[in-house]
Formats: sequence, C-alpha cells, structure tokens
Amino acid sequence: MRWIEVTAAMLAAVGVLKTVTAIAVETAEIRNFEISEVAPGNYVHYGSLEERSPENLGDNANIGFIVGERCVLVVDAGGSLPVGRALKRAIRRVTQVPVCHVVLTHVHPDHFFGAAAFIEDGAQFIAHRNYPRQLAARARPYLSYLRRDLGKAAEGSDIVEPTLLVDGRLELDLGGRSVEVRAWPPAHTDDDLTVFDRLTRTFWLADLLFVDHTPVIDGTITGFLAVMEDLREIDAAHYVAGHGRSLAPWPQPLVPQRRYFVAILEETRAAIRSKKTIQQATDEVGLAEAKNWVAFDTFHRRNVTMAYTELEWE
Ligand SMILES: [Zn+2]
Repeated sequence: MRWIEVTAAMLAAVGVLKTVTAIAVETAEIRNFEISEVAPGNYVHYGSLEERSPENLGDNANIGFIVGERCVLVVDAGGSLPVGRALKRAIRRVTQVPVCHVVLTHVHPDHFFGAAAFIEDGAQFIAHRNYPRQLAARARPYLSYLRRDLGKAAEGSDIVEPTLLVDGRLELDLGGRSVEVRAWPPAHTDDDLTVFDRLTRTFWLADLLFVDHTPVIDGTITGFLAVMEDLREIDAAHYVAGHGRSLAPWPQPLVPQRRYFVAILEETRAAIRSKKTIQQATDEVGLAEAKNWVAFDTFHRRNVTMAYTELEWE
C-alpha cells in the first residue's frame, strides 16, 4: 500500500487522481476466493485463521450461501467490502437467481463488514433482536479499527443496519428449499443466529462453533455452555463453524470447545473461591488448553476476564 500512497500523492499533484483511485480499488480485490459445496446448494468460503491484515483484507471468518430455485440466502458477508464483493462474484459463478436475504449472524466485524456489497441487491438484512443495540454501541470503534488495520482497503465497508429482526425462529422459503433462522439466548454474544437448511440438514453455526481457533466469549460462558447442550441435539448431516473446519461427524466438533469452556469455568470458580484476583485468574486459569488452539494468546485472557466477572456474583 505504501507504494500506492506515494504514487497517489505524486499523481494527484499532476491532476490524474482518478486513475490512481482505480488502481487502489483494484489492489483491494480478493482473488482466488475459493468456495466449497459442503452439501448440495450450500457453499462455504473458509476464512483465514490469522488475524485481520492488509494481506487478507479481513477475510477471517467462514461465510457462504444457500441457493434456492427462487433466490439465494447469504450467511455472513465477511470482514470487509472486498470480501463481500468476492463472495458476490462467487455466487454469480454458481447461479443467476437474486440474493434475497443476508443473515448477519452476530455483531462481530469479521462477519458483517462485507454486507455493504449486497445493499444494491435490495436484499433483506436479517439479524437478532439484540443486534441493533450492540451495533449502535460498537459501530464507531469497529470502523476506526478496520481503517487502522486495512487502511484504504477499508473504504466502502459501511455499516449495514438490519431490516428484519429475529426473536425465536424464522422460516424462509428460497424456492424448493426451506431454511430456518434461529435466534439464541446469550452465548458467544447476546445476538447469535444460526441457519439450518432443511433440505440437506446443513447447520450453519457461525461463532457458536469454533474449530482450532480459540473459542471466544463475548456473551456469557454459562449461557454458551447451555446453548451448546441444545446445539448438540440438532439433527445435522453437515455443519459449518464460524472459524476453522473439521471432518468429524456432528456433534463431535463441539467436544473440544466444551472441554475448553469447562476448564475455564471450573478453574475460574476455584480461583474466586480461594479469593484470587482477576489478574491472578487470567495468569493461571486454563493454560493447559494453550496447545490446542490457534490465537490463544490473543483471546484466552479476555475469555477468563469475561468468565471471572460473570462468575464472581454466583
Ligand atoms: Zn464472533
């Protein structure tokens, strides 16, 4: 990007800024955007497990789409406009039917900033009843962090407000294919949605399931564990995690995540009982799990902090 900035400044001085803008837009495009058909009509793009960077352009979450005879439902649009656009091109390689729904599974920026790519489609943006409140509180810092991390490539990754809120369950007909969108009690966040394609029994869990990537608690640890008990009962033939991928049959991929949360839960409770401070707890709790997870150093202490503040009032 530095080379382009210098060139932009130089060319702007001689009045050919338009050309430079075109170059900048082109560099922010994602090429080689792969999709996998995990079940007939269910296409997934697996995002990078790395942190957001100018190289991956915010392509850090698993996103995808379900194709009906009448229209397409998108499950998350990725972490920036370039990701959303790449997803849109991938959809057009598969089908020409319109995109009618974009499900915003929860209010995390690696999942929603690509949604702006679908505004011109006139799609319905579906989110949890609690989503707008969280979005209002977080939109500004999320945007400034995106600009900090992606620079010019963040341009156009505008906040998209949901147009339909879900409380409980919502049944959608894509044409020859019915899909259930389900709102969950607080778990990963307080605004988690899942998508279930009834035709193929494909279960899109978003961040209610992490594979290999350290699970993140931004809601409640006890709520997350309770929701996982219900997830386990879902009759899924295929599934898509929010991060990472696994070939293990459902519901096996829930097992490592549950083990991790139970370790945090039990060790944090023990720390509180023995009157350890939150600082001591984050230094000691759950460290045996470090070897099992990617990005452990980035997320684990924060998880323990969340757990401690939740559990200290039990
Ligand atoms: Zn998330």
